[in-house]
Amino acid sequence: MLSWLLRLATRLRVSVHAIALQALGIDDPRGFSQWWCRPDPQTLVRISERTALSVERVRDMSLLRWSPVYRDDEANIRFSGYRFERNPYGRPLPRLVLCGKCLQADREPYLRLSWMLGWFAVCPYHQTILIARCPKCRERVRHASLRSETAFTPHVCMSCGADLLDGIYYPAHPSVIRLQAAMFAAKCDGTTPLPGFGRLSWQEMVALADVILGTFWNELRLEERVEVLGRVSHDLQLVGLPEGRSHDSRYGSLALLAWFLERWPYSPGSSVGIDLLTRWSIAKRNRVSRHLGVPDWHDPWNPGPHEIEPAIQARLRELLESARAG
Ligand SMILES: [Zn+2]
Ligand SMILES: [Zn+2]
Repeated sequence: MLSWLLRLATRLRVSVHAIALQALGIDDPRGFSQWWCRPDPQTLVRISERTALSVERVRDMSLLRWSPVYRDDEANIRFSGYRFERNPYGRPLPRLVLCGKCLQADREPYLRLSWMLGWFAVCPYHQTILIARCPKCRERVRHASLRSETAFTPHVCMSCGADLLDGIYYPAHPSVIRLQAAMFAAKCDGTTPLPGFGRLSWQEMVALADVILGTFWNELRLEERVEVLGRVSHDLQLVGLPEGRSHDSRYGSLALLAWFLERWPYSPGSSVGIDLLTRWSIAKRNRVSRHLGVPDWHDPWNPGPHEIEPAIQARLRELLESARAG
């Protein structure tokens, strides 16, 4: 829906905010409610009435078509070290990424809904790493402020004006492609089978990633982390990739998670993963939740407890038991 709004605004030579206010009756100049991702029921009905699109059609243009937000799972670079070290409930990071090949094939370039999921890192059609930074100035890819009347030109860097579609696209590693496919299936359908784990719900998958990655970033000593990241970088060929850093990029953080989870419980990466899961399970308090800070309970976009529910914690312990037995 954001893509549609940006293109509509460009055609009408107005800002997205002006369309929201004048045509859709939405007054949210700073975009705190993120109504274009997950409109509330009234907004959904209002957009449908004013655009003559059915409620189902509007819903399908938004993230509402997929599993509800769990532990802020849709936020940008959600599984990165940066997110585990800092309070992520501050200003939401812009979350624009692009597939150069998809955009070059479009008659009128538009953003795919899946790219809005803040951990989505690989184009499923071209199997290339999505572009998140300008190849020239290294600034994050973003669109103009929703209050500005700047035309929507997703292929141009907002900072330096460079063409983002320079034709240099990086193929993704098969492990990362497999992990993202499993995560996306769980996000779309609610559950998915994950090899080595059995069937996991989206909530269980997020919790599993959180306890393993949270323990990795918060509990390991720096030397231990550097050693693991060196192995991941070697095994998944991250060296020289613009999005290869696990600390602050979508692709790098999925690569780290893939290294822990693939060929579970038999791979060298999974033995480190099992060790991290063990540390979490014997920790006195669930320190992993600490990194998520205190959520704003009044923010309708981000409801739900930040602690992992007892039933999901029990499932993670079960997964650990069977990994040790396997
Ligand atoms: Zn593509
Ligand atoms: Zn640039």
